[in-house]
Amino acid sequence: MAKKEKKKPSVNVWKREQGWDKLDKDELAKLDAYCDEYIDYISNAKTERLAHDIALQMAVKKGFKNFDELVKAGKKIKPGTKIYRSCYGKTLFLAVIGNEPLENGLNLVGSHIDCPRLDLKPSPLYEDDKLVLLDTHYYGGIKKYQWVTLPLALHGVIFKKDGTKVQLDIGEKPDDPVLTITDLLPHLGRDQAGKPLGTAIPGEALNVLIASRPIDKENDDKEVGEKTKLRILKLMKDTYGLEEEDFASAEIEITPAGPARHLGLDKSMVLGYGQDDRVCAFGAVKAIFDLKGTPSRTAAAVICDKEEIGSVGQTGMESTFMENTVAELVNLTVDKYSDLLTRRALEHSAMLSADVCALHDPGFGDVSSPHNMPKINCGIALMKYTGGGGKGGSSDASAEFMSKVRTIFNDNKVIWQMGELGKVDVGGGGTIAHFLAHYGMNVVDCGVGLFSMHAPYETAGKLDIYMGYKAYKAFFEKA
Ligand code: MN
Ligand code: MN
Repeated sequence: MAKKEKKKPSVNVWKREQGWDKLDKDELAKLDAYCDEYIDYISNAKTERLAHDIALQMAVKKGFKNFDELVKAGKKIKPGTKIYRSCYGKTLFLAVIGNEPLENGLNLVGSHIDCPRLDLKPSPLYEDDKLVLLDTHYYGGIKKYQWVTLPLALHGVIFKKDGTKVQLDIGEKPDDPVLTITDLLPHLGRDQAGKPLGTAIPGEALNVLIASRPIDKENDDKEVGEKTKLRILKLMKDTYGLEEEDFASAEIEITPAGPARHLGLDKSMVLGYGQDDRVCAFGAVKAIFDLKGTPSRTAAAVICDKEEIGSVGQTGMESTFMENTVAELVNLTVDKYSDLLTRRALEHSAMLSADVCALHDPGFGDVSSPHNMPKINCGIALMKYTGGGGKGGSSDASAEFMSKVRTIFNDNKVIWQMGELGKVDVGGGGTIAHFLAHYGMNVVDCGVGLFSMHAPYETAGKLDIYMGYKAYKAFFEKA
């Protein structure tokens, strides 16, 4: 008897649905293993410097070579060579040289590893009524009220006057002390409770409590009047060889303390700090490590700094770091260098701007555009454009490029969905996309959806997290 043919529907309806049923047992096991490793990464990579350093260590283990040394040696490099280039320890460029000449363009995935946080002010240490506090200046878009009463960690670097570096990481180990910012008790908070959320806790009130016990009598110094601060100054000197003036040459960040966690009784999500945008950065880095053989076009992942404050500065995407890196790559892969080849390499490139997007949250449906916002565990989200109001400031990807990207995803079993930021008149946001579109290359935003973006603890769906990795890998191989 002939097999009964399955009846095909007369039309294909484009559905947004969770993707779990599309994954077999083997793929689900890979998803879980990937997310375990991801949780480990974001638990340890609490700052852009740490996110950079851990990715760099992983790259060295995978056989990536220090590109600056290759440049210095001036020897030509061959297809298949794996390189990394660090931009002042905060932005990292990883590439696998392809068989095609660089002027044909690169397949790029760009993400960022800086996250909203509290930075210490340049002169942060003060005593008030026998308490010692640290004065902070917030970095990136935060809702200030979310940062009080949490266990906080302190991470960063201090360069002493002789140039030696002191690395500080306090608050992550189970027996480490943590820090906190106090809040008003509700019993006395009637006036505070009547204020708008944005002003109830002002930025200047984000002072981190670090000590309350004056110096022991035997260690007292009559010259120093503030006795609790004296205890901290002595601790800094004895433990790290630091003086108060050393804060002038420091970058110290206050972040939530403790590791990221599996979220939900079904463990289908991840709760953790800094998922915007280390979730995409980790995916990009893992994807480039897992490329088999030599790709046809050169594949490159860039995990960059300063996105949260506009991609400005020496280590932001606005700097010429990547352009210079591509120029050096061209120089080491051709017989005769010309500027035109670098321009061609950049213009012919294709890029996924790998940054997170907002999920449709039924709890805040009034700002949502439910037919167009990504939903949790429905796949990696493609955002044709971001921006605010009438698409202001967005890098609107072309329909032609969208066609190419969705075909790559469909052919490689990447579960994906389209996304938009929310109701059109409500707000807006941007990514690094337009800095790359500036070179004339094709760019589209493609990232993992989050609940509670920019909060001390952000939520992401594990299926989406894993699909980020799959999407970036497919793009490296096929774009
Ligand atoms: Mn972001
Ligand atoms: Mn952000």
